[in-house]
Amino acid sequence: VLVARDGVLPDLVPLAALRDAAGGWSQVGETIFLGVDDKGPVFAVEVADGAGMIGLREAASSLAGDRAGLLAYAAAMLHWARTTRFCGVCGRPTEALEGGHLRVCGEGHHHHPRTDPVVIMLVADGDRVLLGRQAVWPKGRYSALAGFVEPGEALESAVAREVCEEAAVLVEDVRYVASQPWPFPASLMLGFQARYAEGDPEPRDEELEDVRWFSREEVTTAAGEEVQWTDAHEREGGLLLPPRTAIARVLIERWLAG
Ligand SMILES: [Zn+2]
Repeated sequence: VLVARDGVLPDLVPLAALRDAAGGWSQVGETIFLGVDDKGPVFAVEVADGAGMIGLREAASSLAGDRAGLLAYAAAMLHWARTTRFCGVCGRPTEALEGGHLRVCGEGHHHHPRTDPVVIMLVADGDRVLLGRQAVWPKGRYSALAGFVEPGEALESAVAREVCEEAAVLVEDVRYVASQPWPFPASLMLGFQARYAEGDPEPRDEELEDVRWFSREEVTTAAGEEVQWTDAHEREGGLLLPPRTAIARVLIERWLAG
């Protein structure tokens, strides 16, 4: 994400400024049309890494929801264009049509942007919830369980399967709550709540380092603490919840609110 010249916040820049900075249009990648805002058309453009660039995760954490959504949209489209330069059917190069939202090869095979569904679920059992942590996360951080939906699988089945695979717990009454785009690189997080049925939680695959129950009191205390989230953050004791912008946190806050 390119940041504004006079500040640190990511901002939209005129295409002409980008052309001048890059030494001409030939140095700028394909433009992908995203839509029209109150100042005119908005495009996503891939440029080489360089000064004034920060990562998408870093940018998204400091942005309002609508601008973060625009960045997610741009990043997902650019990723798709980057990885669809050749036809998956016949291997020929593709070219962009329809403002970059369709790519077609010389044989006429059409390719549309795709999204990979991920289910993320908060398992609740009365006044306690099941949270897990990965070994690479900062100390004390726990979050809702999550996993990719498999081909041919219903979302409710994916929720039950992932909880069983990751935590050895069976669930029932799976209900959809909310969703969030997650362009790392092309996912859509689908948030659910599920009711505990049976089983003692234990990490069962390689994904989680620990998975266990947390009481409403523990979660309430953690939710009340304003912790500035960074990957470098290390917490001494106690529970560290996901940042407020994450859908996992939305699921937790809704459970707390009853
Ligand atoms: Zn083809």
